[in-house]
Amino acid sequence: MAREPLAEKQARARAIIDRLDAAMPEAEIELDYETPLELVVAVLLSAQTTDKRVNLVTPALFRDFRSAADYARATPAEVERYIKTVGLFRNKARALVKLGQVLLERHGGEVPVSRAALAELPGVGNKTAGVVTMHLGGEPAFPVDTHILRLSKRLGLSSRSDPDDVEVDLRRLLPEARWFKGHQLLIWHGRRVCDARAPECHRCIVAELCPRRGVSDRQVRRPAG
Ligand code: SF4
Repeated sequence: MAREPLAEKQARARAIIDRLDAAMPEAEIELDYETPLELVVAVLLSAQTTDKRVNLVTPALFRDFRSAADYARATPAEVERYIKTVGLFRNKARALVKLGQVLLERHGGEVPVSRAALAELPGVGNKTAGVVTMHLGGEPAFPVDTHILRLSKRLGLSSRSDPDDVEVDLRRLLPEARWFKGHQLLIWHGRRVCDARAPECHRCIVAELCPRRGVSDRQVRRPAG
């Protein structure tokens, strides 16, 4: 397939986001939180787990763990009791206790807003740091989760596999002012239409802008002959 010139790809990326925005103007983060600490904890818990499941456990967790100090003085086993229906709960409980300790030791118990400082917190990678900083109004970012990774490939917006590389590609394609909403819209489209196993191309509003419309990943991978 001929390589798509950058200007054309940028125009197509903007058109995709415009269409998704028109269809889902309400797209926003689906994790429940009220404070910066609750946001970091919820995003950390959401790794390899649905937001719905996280939202089921956080009311009790946030009721009993209100500050970094609450996490810092808990044992992992105490935190586990609240989050045991969440994937990887043992690792996440350990990370939350350490997170509380590091927030107390290095940040006076507050959540930093810069992506670099967030990414150094226990259990917080570059993607989580990007999600948190952009929601706290820290830095513009286009963090790439599993849905955005899949959609970027299917939509031909990035052929790379590392989420950090894909973020670089997306940031080149869209103006900074569209990153925040673009991030939300691609996630919503991935959850509602462009499913990992069964994309519903017949009802996809960006189908005519998508080189993979109607072609499942399995068909794409199958060798010729
Ligand atoms: S056309 Fe199909 S593969 Fe392309 S974005 Fe829509 S649902 Fe996904």
